[in-house]
Amino acid sequence: MKTLKIAIQKSGRLNEKSVELLKNCGLNFENYKSSLISPVSNFPLEILFLRDDDIPEYVQDGIADLGIVGENVIEETEVSVSYLQRLGFGKCSLKIAITNNSDINELTDLEGRSIATTYPVILGKFLQKQNIHADIRTISGSVEISPGLGLSDAICDLVSTGGTLKSNGLKPFADVMSSEAVLIGSKGSETNDLVQELMQRIQSVLRAKE
Ligand code: ATP
Ligand code: ZN
Repeated sequence: MKTLKIAIQKSGRLNEKSVELLKNCGLNFENYKSSLISPVSNFPLEILFLRDDDIPEYVQDGIADLGIVGENVIEETEVSVSYLQRLGFGKCSLKIAITNNSDINELTDLEGRSIATTYPVILGKFLQKQNIHADIRTISGSVEISPGLGLSDAICDLVSTGGTLKSNGLKPFADVMSSEAVLIGSKGSETNDLVQELMQRIQSVLRAKE
């Protein structure tokens, strides 16, 4: 049977938990920081270590059969993949936040205002649903500093503890989406015997944690 490929984050917030999950499934592989691809010695599987942003497209295009990535990244990239399993780690929320002294009090106050984000697609859909017309400023990082620099009236960013918001003089204002790490597969991968075997192992690891 064809060797499967699973894409996980190379480094960052999801890397360690993704590696741990696969090891707990009984998979033996080397986890060198320098390697981009690692064969599993006791299962027909290869692990691809990628930037999280690239994972949904790799899976959509079938370059990887499976992937572990945050729901936020899947929604933002608008790919067509199968959601196979919620994994219970990497939990966070995408929130709109405003400065502590902001005159924005309700959602409609965002009308005509500017919001800096690295999630323009998700934010755009959220605002459209609320029928709010705001100026979405897409930036690639350090979103929290933009109100202080006068670049935007609000931000839309991932929050877990809220510590980063606080230390930048911001407070959460509205919830846009909540997210956790999920196992995704290429369309149709659900019916592959190896995928099913791996999913069973993942589910028993998750059950043992409950
Ligand atoms: P990469 O180098 O792979 O592109 P990144 O910097 O885009 O990494 P990380 O900051 O490592 O991404 O976050 C990866 C994922 O972890 C996020 O997409 C999100 O699903 C999840 N996550 C959980 N808590 C947080 C948080 N407080 N801030 C940001 N992401 C979080
Ligand atoms: Zn990323």
